[in-house]
Formats: sequence, structure tokens, C-alpha cells
Amino acid sequence: MTNVPALFGSMVFNDRKMEERLPHATYKALKKTIQNGEPLDQSVANSVANAMKEWAVEMGCTHYTHWFQPMTGVTAEKHDSFIYPASDGQVIMEFSGKELIKGEPDASSFPSGGIRATFEARGYTTWDPTSPAFIRDKTLYIPTAFCSYTGEVLDKKTPLLRSMEKLSSVAVDVLHLLGKTDVSRVTTTVGPEQEYFLIDKKMYDKRPDLIYTGRTLFGAPAPKGQELEDHYFGSIKTRVAAFMADLDEELWKLGVMAKTKHNEVAPSQHELAPIFATSNIATDHNELTMEVMKKTAERHGLVCLLHEKPFAGVNGSGKHNNWSISTNTGENLLDPGKNPENNLQFQLFLSAVVKAVHEYQDLLRLTVASAGNDHRLGANEAPPAIISMYLGDDLGALVDSIIEGKEYKSCGKSEMLTGVDVLADFKKDTSDRNRTSPFAFTGNKFEFRALGSSLNIACPNYMLNTMVAEELSQFYDELKNAEDLESSMKELIRRTLTEHKDIIFNGDNYSDEWVAEAERRGLCNYRSLPEAMAHYIDKKNVDLFVKNGIVSESEIRARYEIELEHYSKQIRIEALTMIDMAEKNITPAVISFVNSLSDAAIAKKSLSNTYSVYAETSLIESLSGTLEAFVKKTAELKDAVNVASYYTDELALATYYREKVFTLMSELRTLGDEMETKTSASYWPYPSYGEILFGV
Ligand code: ADP
Ligand code: MG
Repeated sequence: MTNVPALFGSMVFNDRKMEERLPHATYKALKKTIQNGEPLDQSVANSVANAMKEWAVEMGCTHYTHWFQPMTGVTAEKHDSFIYPASDGQVIMEFSGKELIKGEPDASSFPSGGIRATFEARGYTTWDPTSPAFIRDKTLYIPTAFCSYTGEVLDKKTPLLRSMEKLSSVAVDVLHLLGKTDVSRVTTTVGPEQEYFLIDKKMYDKRPDLIYTGRTLFGAPAPKGQELEDHYFGSIKTRVAAFMADLDEELWKLGVMAKTKHNEVAPSQHELAPIFATSNIATDHNELTMEVMKKTAERHGLVCLLHEKPFAGVNGSGKHNNWSISTNTGENLLDPGKNPENNLQFQLFLSAVVKAVHEYQDLLRLTVASAGNDHRLGANEAPPAIISMYLGDDLGALVDSIIEGKEYKSCGKSEMLTGVDVLADFKKDTSDRNRTSPFAFTGNKFEFRALGSSLNIACPNYMLNTMVAEELSQFYDELKNAEDLESSMKELIRRTLTEHKDIIFNGDNYSDEWVAEAERRGLCNYRSLPEAMAHYIDKKNVDLFVKNGIVSESEIRARYEIELEHYSKQIRIEALTMIDMAEKNITPAVISFVNSLSDAAIAKKSLSNTYSVYAETSLIESLSGTLEAFVKKTAELKDAVNVASYYTDELALATYYREKVFTLMSELRTLGDEMETKTSASYWPYPSYGEILFGV
């Protein structure tokens, strides 16, 4: 039996270890930095570095690395050993405060969106003391932020940390105004639910599309998909259960509070949810979770797919970003309490979120846009591309009553009568679930559901924090000199909810009526990354980030270019992989199969002219027709990829890839999949959907 409490955090230089191993004054100073964001002293850093090193070496570490989250979308690390020359020609293990605080990876090979020429290659990583260091593979990992020599932000963590600071300071101002002077810090909390696929490594190794792009570019549907709904929450297969148990243990050692695991809707699809943490730690932990998932899968002869749409025709994978705001005095600011109708503080924070989501719906949309997520959003799956909010019956009724100035009647927590004596009756939640909403209130938090499975959650969270901070600071400015605070608040809340009620939608987000209704309401409906990303640099969005000190205008431009470039590159790699698969394997396989059919027909006829060769000839005819179209389409796709090199503008290029190249890829796939259904399995070069999806 695993002793979970003993195992938990055993690989983390966490609070308990710091208290044990640091001089008391150092520990106190470090805690102040972690809890109140106070600047850190060099002598404290030296002392922390030494304690960290001693612990790491005791644990068998030889190396340390600054661990950061550049704009590539995956984490980066550069390992240095602790060795230091001693006077006798031997070495000692050393780690200074300077090394802890600052690292210098060459920045020139990380995406910067053109803000930094390669001759200005220097980049710095800076220790983030709010996220604890940990050990993996005999290396001490130090979470860091990453910026260029000239100070431009080159990572995803820095804007998140800044947005947390900003939201905290504004929310504290507001709370002080409301008389809560004991609050000194406000943090945003996040619990990301992570979906993933798990397939057999042997199948994976035979699919270049999975290897190069993370998704299948060809593949006819299996006779069975997810239509029987027998996988969701179904009993977990032995091999998967072993993987999950191993994964839990690995994550627990790293201090990740892995809590819930279950099968998801599609065959071979699963989910893991942790207990929530501050946005910053939740982000680091989610990045770690994804990495550990992949590594653990390897040990079980499996491959973990985090692509948003690895298989056509069955659900893709997303991530639910549960988000809330709480104070250092332990209050969740999005908890309506027993009497939300009298809870002006809650109403004020709720209004800020409603206004933020309405005014910056385009940012929320574009922050979840990616080549992979384009297959989900706006494609009749998961949340739609239109951002709206679901509040549930109770809060919906409250908002209506505020807008209309009428008395509020709660739907109330009613008793759930199970009707069976041995089953306990219990209180129902006040809001039912609306699984179709991209941004749903779920009791005391919001669940942003439009994230793709592989996304770094720092981005949606810094956007969310910043836009809510902006609205709160506008509220603060309006209220700070109010003569009668209560009536001013009521007026502000009522006006805000009235002006922004169009973002609230409690119905079925998948319906065609909603698309039409959303258009009448003037909500955005950006179906793909290029459409959405174009709005990143809209003036109102640039102003938001610049005014709140999150990123500068040139950094936003850089991010915009990086996202667009990344998108174009991904589709290009997919197109090239398809062409390769088509020319080197699919076309030759079909030709061989057709040959064998015609050999069979000739052989039959030579035995006796009376034998029917209907089966062979009809197959030859239909396959040859499709093959001809397939070969022509492959050539067309090849030309289209070549034409892309004429584009110089990143937005125009990404749009071209989306509209032209991507469309040709879908057409080529249809032809390929049609041939797969008619070609003998022994000739088809790739494992089928059935073999992959039901192969574990
Ligand atoms: P679901 O039924 O959608 O899986 P759960 O109630 O199990 O929802 O919670 C989902 C996630 O929400 C969990 O990761 C949980 O820790 C997180 N969560 C709960 N409360 C908060 C909060 N105050 N802030 C952020 N996340 C939270
Ligand atoms: Mg959920």
C-alpha cells in the first residue's frame, strides 16, 4: 500500500522542507516574498540556494535547471551540474543565490515574434519563488520567468504573474472600500481538468501522422465509435488503470494534487482533474502533468495524445479551466452565499466578470485558438466558437430581478428525494450543469471550457485576470468618492448587468438558433485562429494590456505574429505529412492491391472463361477512379503548399493555410479514407481507427 501523505510532495522543496532547512529569518523573509509579493534580498537567495542544493544532492541530484515556458507552447530547460572546481583539482557541489535567481539561456532560438534580432541573443530566466522547486530525473527544477536582455517578456508565466498582482491590488482596493480592511492580498485560483487519449505505442509507431503532427490525417471511421456512450465513466481497463495509478503517484511526489480520474466520451479518451491551486502553481502543475502523462505512458508501452483532435468522428480533447478569486482571509469572492440578493460584494464581483467577458469576448476566444482547437470550436463539438456565459437558474433569476428592479425569488436548494430508503436524501446544487456553455458559473467559480487539451493555461488566465482587474478598477474609480456607497453600488451593478446582459445565455449553445441569436446580439463568432487572432491587436485590447502593465504594445504584436506563424507552420507540417503518406505509402498500396485483383481476375479467366470476375473488376473500377482523383488532389495540395511561400504577411499566410491548404487536406483525406474502406487490410499501410481506438 502506498502511503500517500508520505509520498506527497516528496520531490518538492515545499514549505515544510523550507521551514526545516532554512534559518528562521531566511524562512520568514522568503515567506513574505511568496505571500505578499515583496522583493527578495540577495542574502536570502544565497541561503535558499544552499539549502535547496543540500536537499537536492541528498536526493541524488547532480544537476539543476531553470524551467521556463517560452512561446513555443512547451516548457524548456537547460541543465547545469552543481560541480565547482576545488583547489585540489577535485570538485565540490555548489549552488549560489546568483545561480538560483538568474539563468542565461541563449534566447535567439526561442520565438520572439521579431522583437529581438539574433545578435541580441541574450535572454534571462529569473527564479519565481512563488512556485516551489522540484526534482525530476536527478535534476533540481527551478520554475522561472523568461525575458530578453532588453527586458521584453518572452514567456507565458510573466504576464500571468503580473496579472495576478494587478488583480490583487485592484480587488484589495475595492474590498477596503467595502470595509474589509483585513484583506491584504487576493489570489486567483484555478483547477484545470485535463483530457487526453491513450493509445498503444505499437500502433503509434506505425502512424507518421501521429508522430509528426499528433493527429491522424487519414483514417476511415471504425464500425464502432462513441455512439453507444459506453466509454464515458465506464470501468477502466487494467492497462489504463495501471497507467493511471502510476501517474497519480508520480504527480503526488511532485506535489500535484491529482484528485479525479475517469474515462471520457471517446474510446481511449480519459480525464484527470487536480484540486485547485493559485493560478501560477496550477499553470506549472498543469504543464508538469502533461509532461508526466507522456513519460508515464512510455513506461506502459502506451502513448499519451494531447492533441485537440487526434481522431476524426469522435470527440476531441479539451481542458476545463475552473477559475475563482479568493482573499488571504479565506473568502471566495465568487461565492454567492446564502442570500446573494443582499450580497452586494458578490454582485459587484459578478458584474465585473460579466462586463469583462462581454467586452473582451474576442480575447477569450483568441486565447484558446490553435490549429488543433480549430477542429473543435465552431465545428459542432465541445463549446462553440461564440463566447457566452451561463449563470444557471438561480443567478440568472437574480440578475433578471436586479435589471428589472423586482423582488428576487430563489429557486432554492431543494432536497433531493431519492425515493429509496437506503439511499440518503441530499441537497441539490442550485445550478444544474450546462455542458454546452463555454463559460459557466458552477456554484462558486467559473468554468471556462473552450480550452484545447494541449494549451498552456497561463494565457487564458492572464487574459481573464487582466480583464476582470480592468473592470474592477473602473468600478473602484466610480465608487471611491461615492457619498452613499450602498446606493451607488446598487446603481452600478444594475447598470452594468443591464448593459452587458447580452453575454448571458442559458440555452443550448450547439443549436443553430443560438448562432442566429448571437449574431443579433452582436456577439463575435470567429470560427478559426486567423479570424480570431486578427483581433489581438485591436486598439481596445492593446490598451487593456498596456494600461494594466501586463505586456507592451510591441510584445503583443510579437505574440500575435508568433501565434499566426506557429499556426501556418503546423498546417504546413500536416500538409507535407499527408503528401508524404499519400505518395510513399497509400498510392503504392492501392496500386499493389489493384494489381493483385487484376492478377486474380486473369488467373480465374485462364482457368475457365465461364468464371465471373465481377468482384475483382468492380473493385478495380471503383478503386482506380478514386485513386486517380487522389493522385490529382495530392498534386494540387503540393502546389498549394508551394504557393504559400509567396505570402509575406503572417495574417494573410495563416488565412491562406486555413482557407486553401486546410480545405484541400480535408478533400484529400475523404478520398484516402474511401480507398481505405475498399482496400484489403493486409495491403493498407497504416493501422486502422478500430485497431488504434480499441487497441489498449
Ligand atoms: P466537474 O464536475 O466539472 O468535474 P468539480 O466540482 O469536480 O467539477 O471541480 C472541477 C475542478 O474545479 C476541480 O479541479 C476543482 O478543484 C476545481 N475548483 C473547485 N473550486 C475551485 C475554486 N474556488 N477555484 C478554482 N477551481 C476550483
Ligand atoms: Mg468540468
